Amino acid sequence: MGAKSGKQFLQRLDSTPREVWYGGQRITGGISSHPAFKGVAKSIAALYDMQLRPELREVMTYESPTTHEPVGTSFMQPGTMDDLAKRTAMMRAWANYSGGMMGRTADYLNSSIMAMAAAKDFFGRGERDFASNISEYYEYVRENDLILTHTLINPQVNRGVGPSKQVDPFIAARVADKTSEGVVMRGARMLATLPIADEIMVFPSTVIRSGQDDTPYSIAFAIPVSAKGLKFICRESFSAESTYDHPLASRFDEQDAVVVFDDVLVPWERVFILEDPEKANRVNDATGAVVFMAHQAAVRESTKAEFMAGLMTMVAETIGADAFPQVQERISNIFLTAETMKAFVRSSEAGAKLNQWGLMTPDYVPINSARNLWPRLAPDFAAVMKQTGASGLMAIPPEGVLGSEARKDFDRYYQAKTADAEERVRLFKMAWDAAGSSFGGRQDLYERFFFGDPVRMASAYYAWYDKEPCRRLVKELLHRED
Ligand SMILES: Cc1cc2nc3c(=O)[nH]c(=O)nc-3n(C[C@H](O)[C@H](O)[C@H](O)COP(=O)(O)OP(=O)(O)OC[C@H]3O[C@@H](n4cnc5c(N)ncnc54)[C@H](O)[C@@H]3O)c2cc1C
Repeated sequence: MGAKSGKQFLQRLDSTPREVWYGGQRITGGISSHPAFKGVAKSIAALYDMQLRPELREVMTYESPTTHEPVGTSFMQPGTMDDLAKRTAMMRAWANYSGGMMGRTADYLNSSIMAMAAAKDFFGRGERDFASNISEYYEYVRENDLILTHTLINPQVNRGVGPSKQVDPFIAARVADKTSEGVVMRGARMLATLPIADEIMVFPSTVIRSGQDDTPYSIAFAIPVSAKGLKFICRESFSAESTYDHPLASRFDEQDAVVVFDDVLVPWERVFILEDPEKANRVNDATGAVVFMAHQAAVRESTKAEFMAGLMTMVAETIGADAFPQVQERISNIFLTAETMKAFVRSSEAGAKLNQWGLMTPDYVPINSARNLWPRLAPDFAAVMKQTGASGLMAIPPEGVLGSEARKDFDRYYQAKTADAEERVRLFKMAWDAAGSSFGGRQDLYERFFFGDPVRMASAYYAWYDKEPCRRLVKELLHRED
């Protein structure tokens, strides 16, 4: 029990059977050594190991309230400002490891179930004790140090109508039956990042609202990825063997999968919301889960912005382009993004208050602003990186050149103002991987849609934002006579 090591994570990964489809084949045998997964599995293992490093242990773990063993800090239910600061330090340490390139480190969904468990009474104790289900699930995940994936969105068949009005009402995953053992789910959801997780949470979106027609689809539950009938259909992998050629993709491609529920039995103790559109619409806000998820995301995003700014700065300096004012202006805009995201995090923490469930909760105004602004700022990363690196981003021959007859030309013509050829190409490969490769393109898409469709998020933000202080300023001036 308690915080696990990377080795324990990898053993668990390989010994958990799951139906993961890659191309025409179901992956059998140790998934941690499959070419599509071994890079990211190794990275996740390294994150687990960080928890046990003596110099980091104080930040990365805290004492379990039940077993008194050290458990991961992202499970901590913060009661004080110090607790909140410790959560941030832990999340920052994990984000630093990948330069913010991994969006589904365990702390993201740990934050969600941590908040939901504190708000267990929201789930209710009617015919079924959903309140106990969520708090017991949280303890189970915490004590076993599991990593979760989640899926919130229905398949993209016809967005003009809801799930019940599709050509087949069982395209979107929904309740197909209820038995004495649990709920039977049939249909699919898209998308779930990280099919090498231990468990999958199937929850309502934080953005899309359900109506009465959506009752069979309005459910929240969590099951092991080994559940019978559960399938993950993966996209093409962007991972690669060479860390020199693909420094980010080879390590951090988390993989995304469509999830199929082929009459999957969800045991009653794993059901948290059942056929309840009203609860489904409120769960993320009312429990405070969205604030803690968005707080984790903002910490990672601010780290990523700093990483991207660093990468662009080094690319510009290496080729002497940092002397040009338009290059300085563009990269300064990325510094501004990093500072803006950091300021949102700090301001949300400075304004933290105990929520109704007793958790020291970051102020939602800056954190909700961060989650709405990020999809508007992050697309600049790819644009500025390309403007800065220009053709140098294509002067990146594969690693084999280093040991070839072309090495002499390579050393002479690929050198740069501040780096020899090997070092310059190493840097430019990283820049391309961050902003232009298949991995980089996926990063761009991910940040645009991380919390949902930014258009509908903006409408929700407009409806939610307290506009009165803004109006008041205008009203006071509008009819002033002096
Ligand atoms: C790389 C990646 C990883 C992801 N990982 C996960 C994950 O792990 N778990 C998870 O749950 N989700 C994940 N997602 C999905 C993410 O939640 C969705 O992308 C997001 O919610 C937007 O939904 P959608 O992609 O279905 O877009 P759609 O809703 O299909 O939107 C497509 C277009 O139509 C417009 N549109 C659609 N409906 C409306 C409407 N009613 N009104 C106005 N405009 C509309 C949108 O603005 C957009 O331009 C991931 C997405 C990406 C790209």
